[in-house]
Amino acid sequence: MSKYALPELGYAHDALEPHVKKEILELHHGKHHAAYVTNANVALDKLEEARTKGDFATIPALERALAFNVAGHVLHSIFWKNMKKGGGGQPTGALAEQINKDFGSFDTFKKQMNAAASTVFGSGWAALVWEPVLGKLITTQVYDHQSNFAVGGTPVMVMDAWEHAWYLQYQNRKAEFFDALWNVWNWDDIGARLDAAKKTQPGLPGAAVA
Ligand code: MN
Repeated sequence: MSKYALPELGYAHDALEPHVKKEILELHHGKHHAAYVTNANVALDKLEEARTKGDFATIPALERALAFNVAGHVLHSIFWKNMKKGGGGQPTGALAEQINKDFGSFDTFKKQMNAAASTVFGSGWAALVWEPVLGKLITTQVYDHQSNFAVGGTPVMVMDAWEHAWYLQYQNRKAEFFDALWNVWNWDDIGARLDAAKKTQPGLPGAAVA
């Protein structure tokens, strides 16, 4: 059976300094993300066991664990690639055009993303999502890793608002962490994700069927 696996970070743990401390990346990637991968595989194993036994009494807990941990794995995998050493600045090309079209300006988009991230109640994320039904970019405030997300969308840029993402460095100043992320965004990666998302044809209302 295929298994979820922790992807490489793609850069050194200190590559995003001073905006994201080395110690945060070591724990965040090596411990937190790794735990989501482990627990996603555990959930799959337990579902296999439930099928073998023909006992589905634990299905609600297993479904929640599967969604939570797979979504955590996916969001972190995107987050690492969304950042790079020496990133930041502003996007260009099709990504910049789409942002201007859907948010009015880059500055307004930045304010909306930061507002979504900094007002998550409890643990969650802010995400820039390609919404294929209308064919536009929207922001999304994700609860935990998997709730409050409109089905059908594709996240192209994500901001981790969980305390583990910033507390070691920013303590009670989490808004400073969200500001700092704009110094490390990898717009090439985010733009490539948007290009790829636009090419999917999921057969949703309003979208063409392949
Ligand atoms: Mn995280």
